[in-house]
Amino acid sequence: MTIAKIQSVRGMNDILPDEAEFWDMFDEIIRSWLKSYGYRPLRLPIVEPTPLFKRAIGEVTDIVEKEMYSFVDSLNGEALTLRPEGTAGCVRAVIQHNLIAQQPQRLYYMGQMFRHERPQKGRYRQFYQVGVEALGFPGPDVDGEQILMGARLWDDLGLDGIKLQLNNLGQPAERARHRAELISYFERHGEELDEDGRRRLHSNPLRILDSKNPALQELILGAPQLIDHLGGESLAHFDGVQQVLRDAGQPFEINPRLVRGLDYYNLTVFEWVTDRLGAQGTVCAGGRYDGLVEQLGGKPAPACGFAMGVERLIALIREAGGETRAAAVDVYVVHQGAAASRLAARVAEGLRDRGIDVLFHCGGGSFKAQMKKADASGARFAAIIGDDEASAGEVTLKPLRSFGEQPNVQMRVTVDGLADEIMDCILNWEES
Ligand code: ATP
Ligand code: MG
Repeated sequence: MTIAKIQSVRGMNDILPDEAEFWDMFDEIIRSWLKSYGYRPLRLPIVEPTPLFKRAIGEVTDIVEKEMYSFVDSLNGEALTLRPEGTAGCVRAVIQHNLIAQQPQRLYYMGQMFRHERPQKGRYRQFYQVGVEALGFPGPDVDGEQILMGARLWDDLGLDGIKLQLNNLGQPAERARHRAELISYFERHGEELDEDGRRRLHSNPLRILDSKNPALQELILGAPQLIDHLGGESLAHFDGVQQVLRDAGQPFEINPRLVRGLDYYNLTVFEWVTDRLGAQGTVCAGGRYDGLVEQLGGKPAPACGFAMGVERLIALIREAGGETRAAAVDVYVVHQGAAASRLAARVAEGLRDRGIDVLFHCGGGSFKAQMKKADASGARFAAIIGDDEASAGEVTLKPLRSFGEQPNVQMRVTVDGLADEIMDCILNWEES
């Protein structure tokens, strides 16, 4: 009888060691990049009360209508949802812990998000985001800073060709006037709309502009534009952001059709887009959401943020031919014989005391078999201890990789001198 294997949930991926090591390196770059702008980390729950997302994201959005993993806690009947994005939970936490009572905050978080979408390249049901939020700043300086942060990160990651798109969604009253005009425009063209469009016509006509249906594109192109309904303050904010970008020499394109998939945005919205990832080309998206803190029960406070799709960025780094393998350990310890093995275990710990990474061979086997494993491990050295070395209190140090001009010869060193010898070799290699 064979036992059926259990597979991972569709659209939810295992990240195996070769890849996960690279993700760790990526995380480190992200953390030091955020620190260089004064952003501080938050760790937030993956599960939140369902009403949080309904209120924050909006009832008539793709996410809330059809993408949320919602369930009832069978133990207490609570309505819960796996977070589909991070801003709602972040703002909830900021309000709950009164974080912006004294001063504005620059915050970030990283982790899994869950959306029940159709899985495809760059689109998964569990995916990772880095979320960056500035709360308590009215902008436009902080909007500009957040946008420029993206440019610096692409540079840090060795990525080019990621283009900036920018728009301004105005304020609720301005949007309401635009909305009324949009509805009457789409009503006049009702027979040209698709089913989604007709359904959204009165609930959320702005979202029709975001439709990816090719048949609607001409109709959308002719629709009334929000920019014509913006008042002086909104236009001044828009100008302010553009000024920051121009001063920094950051090119951008104004895309009046950029409306974003979530309801909570106002004024600035932006996306960083590449054409190297096929249809899923947006690697970073964000903007201002001044109404959200109040909408979630806090004292009104301006806010602005963005989120990046980690899978898409990592795919892009791979595509650009960037180094995606982490460095292997420094030393592989090969040993045989009872006394030698006990000494080898002490040697391995001694090297780790000195900050050297060590793989200690486990599972016995001949010297030849162990040396094969040492080679395959990618380590720079094998430290070999047999009976002969053990009785002399020495180790045979064998370089496994040749670097620059350094001769690739093995040598006998004392147990006490081993760490220094290894550090010297590594230094020499790194200098050559
Ligand atoms: P899209 O238009 O691609 O569906 P979105 O507007 O729904 O994106 P946001 O909610 O703004 O996306 O999320 C920010 C970023 O997170 C996106 O720009 C993208 O890089 C990434 N992202 C969103 N959904 C997914 C997903 N299902 N799988 C992988 N990455 C995603
Ligand atoms: Mg989406």
